[in-house]
Amino acid sequence: SDPNVNKMLERIKADNVKFIRLQFNDILGIPKNVAIPVKQVEKALTEGIWIDGSSIEGFARIDESDMILKPDLDTYQILPWRPVDKKAARFICDVYTYGNKPFEGDPRSVLKKNLAEAAKLGYTYNCGPELEFFVFKRDENGQPTTEFVDHGGYFDLAPSDAAEDLRREIVLALTDMGFEIEASHHEVADSQHEIDFKYGDALSVADKVITFKFAAKTLALMNGLHATFMAKPISRIAGTGMHTHGSLSKDGKNVFFDPSAENQISDVMLYYIGGLMKHAKAIARLGNPTINSYKRLVPGYEAPVYITWSAANRSAMIRVPAARGNSTRAELRSPDPTCNPYLLFSAMIAAGLDGINNKILPPPATDVNIYHLSPEEIKSRGIEMLPGSLIEANNELLKDKVICDALGPHIIENLTKIAIAEEESFRLTVHPWEVERYINNY
Ligand code: GLN
Ligand code: MG
Ligand code: MG
Ligand code: MG
Repeated sequence: SDPNVNKMLERIKADNVKFIRLQFNDILGIPKNVAIPVKQVEKALTEGIWIDGSSIEGFARIDESDMILKPDLDTYQILPWRPVDKKAARFICDVYTYGNKPFEGDPRSVLKKNLAEAAKLGYTYNCGPELEFFVFKRDENGQPTTEFVDHGGYFDLAPSDAAEDLRREIVLALTDMGFEIEASHHEVADSQHEIDFKYGDALSVADKVITFKFAAKTLALMNGLHATFMAKPISRIAGTGMHTHGSLSKDGKNVFFDPSAENQISDVMLYYIGGLMKHAKAIARLGNPTINSYKRLVPGYEAPVYITWSAANRSAMIRVPAARGNSTRAELRSPDPTCNPYLLFSAMIAAGLDGINNKILPPPATDVNIYHLSPEEIKSRGIEMLPGSLIEANNELLKDKVICDALGPHIIENLTKIAIAEEESFRLTVHPWEVERYINNY
């Protein structure tokens, strides 16, 4: 028998865990799980557990919907908010088909496949996302509202209120779950927060993004509040981003740093930026996957609108932070945390590798506040815009062979179905804005 499995079984016993959650993700990046009593865990770790995939968003394959969950031993974590006397632990699983092959609709398998492409060139892809979120009150029926819990601003020390306590609880829970938390602060908008954790290899970080979101939501609920990662819950104030820092390392060394190059930015890093810019419109479909995501990508709120890069300016889509050496990295500012991180990181690494393999140089950096440029200046500089809607982004994705190949036909087909259905549902709904605008005049 497998010594790693045996070690894990001993650890589960020593931890006095009673329930095991087997977790996986649908195409939207929504975690799903099935709980098994600890008695079943040996079977789960050796053979996997069968599930019916037919009702999972983006899985649906009526013909062969029986699938196997195979727990990844590296993802074992105790859920710190569950009762100590009835401890629950989770594993994140890979999804296999009936025929025992990695399922092409499993976002985690898709990311693994793309990271293997990077590994063929000797690269490890490192990601560092900054997750922002709002904390709102719930109404008397327990339903989420958009009512603020606090009125703090950027880096404010809120008075010791519910939101500050909640942020601390989230930080403590995530620390228990193996996160190295680097900072936690109030964000620009009322009731908006950010918690940053240490970057790492893209797969473990994608797992962490999922864990982060469900930990924050769970702990908010336990405190009678609601944490939301939607991109723009309230018009005309800051939206919620998931800036994603990316770098490549080879033999443990950051290959984006070149002490002898201009700005100490290596050619590899320039090509990576060139690749991200070339594929930015398709990447939007993954980084900005909801109708609401596009209400964030407007001028004036530190969210990008144009496909530009800059060494400093925060209106650019890609910013190169000042840090060098092992911390040299490119920050992609367009994604928001409604994304499925496995698919977003897949698209980013595929775009970056396309840039590197084909030596795609980015256009010159735009080191001015782009919100202040006139439409003529923007046009004369040849600057292009990010897509303005989900369906537009999906059409860009369908045109982009590199990103389509990276995600595979199963994912592309399902993303397209979802984009069309979302667009249709939105179009069939009469929104309060329309009533307010037209009811008197017409
Ligand atoms: N909330 C902003 C966004 O939507 C980012 C603000 C910041 O982190 N400086 O991307
Ligand atoms: Mg930040
Ligand atoms: Mg921020
Ligand atoms: Mg940032």
